[in-house]
Amino acid sequence: MNYILKRSTRARTMRLIVYPDSSVVVTAPRFFGLQSIERFVMKHSEWVNRKVAETSKHNVIRVARKDIAMLKERSLAYARARCANFAAAYGLKFRKISIRAQKSRWGSCSRSGNLSFNYKIAVLPTHTADYIIVHELCHLREMNHSKKFWDLVAQEIPNHRQIRKELRNIAIVYY
Ligand SMILES: [Zn+2]
Repeated sequence: MNYILKRSTRARTMRLIVYPDSSVVVTAPRFFGLQSIERFVMKHSEWVNRKVAETSKHNVIRVARKDIAMLKERSLAYARARCANFAAAYGLKFRKISIRAQKSRWGSCSRSGNLSFNYKIAVLPTHTADYIIVHELCHLREMNHSKKFWDLVAQEIPNHRQIRKELRNIAIVYY
């Protein structure tokens, strides 16, 4: 098994992490012998292999931290253009668009008609970014995830089911 060994002066016990890009990192206290580290890794090899198999299905998108400010601008421009486009198609009106840095949400829609999107939509394949935009826009009319809501989404994004699956398999990794 391939793994990256990190020595830590602060760690008191060994730690094993499988990242979304399938890399395996073992953090060990500074003076732990290689043999006990190997033993520790072997002991957890089944779990590691399972995790690696899971994460290798991911579509990994790498984002440089230094690009985040640029991505925020780009995502705002994209969201403005695409919201205008889809809002016209649906005959919907929205108020303000804002960009947020959220950990796990792609977007949201407030009752007062404001839309917000995660800046990470700027690194997504455009068909997935468009789905997110349509999803939030449709909440302007249907503030729920009812059948009516999904029918509305399907008017512009007929394959939304498949796109949602794609989206779940996207892992964003920072460097
Ligand atoms: Zn929703």
